[in-house]
Amino acid sequence: MATAAFRHKIVGAILGRKSALPVSENPLELTVLEQVIFAICREDSLQEKAEAAFRNLQTRFFDWNEVRVSSPSEIMEAISGLTGTRARAERIIAFLQEHFEATYAFDLEGLLKKGIKGTAKQLEKAGGVTDHTVAWVNQRALKAQSIPVDSSMLRCAKRLELVDSEVGKIPEARQALEGIVAKTKVTDFTDGLSRIAVEFCHERNPACQSCPLSGECPSAKAPKGAAAPSGRGRKPK
Ligand code: SF4
Repeated sequence: MATAAFRHKIVGAILGRKSALPVSENPLELTVLEQVIFAICREDSLQEKAEAAFRNLQTRFFDWNEVRVSSPSEIMEAISGLTGTRARAERIIAFLQEHFEATYAFDLEGLLKKGIKGTAKQLEKAGGVTDHTVAWVNQRALKAQSIPVDSSMLRCAKRLELVDSEVGKIPEARQALEGIVAKTKVTDFTDGLSRIAVEFCHERNPACQSCPLSGECPSAKAPKGAAAPSGRGRKPK
C-alpha cells in the first residue's frame, strides 16, 4: 500500500503538470440541470469532446423538452463524438423524462439551497444519474470538496497507487481521493487525472512513454529495450 506522502506527491505531480497537458480546459457556465447533462457527456470523455457533444445538444434541439421527447438515435447522432453513445442517450432521456414528470419544468436551481447532502440525496435516486454525475454537480455547481470519478479515472488512480488496488467501486475511490486533495484543488485535480486517464492511461497498452506522469508512476512501462528503474516498470494492473 502506498504511503500518504507518496500519494500527496502524485497529487502534486498531477496538479503541477496540468499546464503541460494537451488542452487547457475552460470551465463552462452552466445551470444545475445542464451540469447533469454535461456530466453524462463528460464521464469517461475528454473535456473538449464532452463540450462539443453538449453544444450539439443545445444547438440541434430547440430546448431540453425536445431532447426529452427525441429518440435515442437522434441524441446519439448529436453526441457521436463520444463513446457509448446509446447508453449516454438513454441516460439523458431518462433523466429529463423523470425530472419533467416530477416538476413539469427543466429547472434544478432549487438544489443549490439543499446543500451537498440534500443534492446528493435527491440526485442519486434520479434516472440516468451515476455516482460520477452526483459528484460532478456537487463539485461544479455547489463548489463542494467532491471528486467525480469515472471508470477511466479509477483505473488510472489504481495504477498511480492513489487508491488501493483492492478498491473495486467508484464511490470508495471517490471517498479516498476526496481525503487527499484540498478543497481548493479538486477541480484542477479532476481535470488533470481525467485527462491523463482518457488520453494516456488506456485500459490496454497505456501510452506511458508520452504520459506526463511517467516519471512518478509506479506502474509506468519502460520503453522497449530499456531497463525499468528500480521500483518501476511493473505491469499496469
Ligand atoms: S505512466 Fe502509464 S500507467 Fe502510469 S498513469 Fe501514465 S499511462 Fe497510466
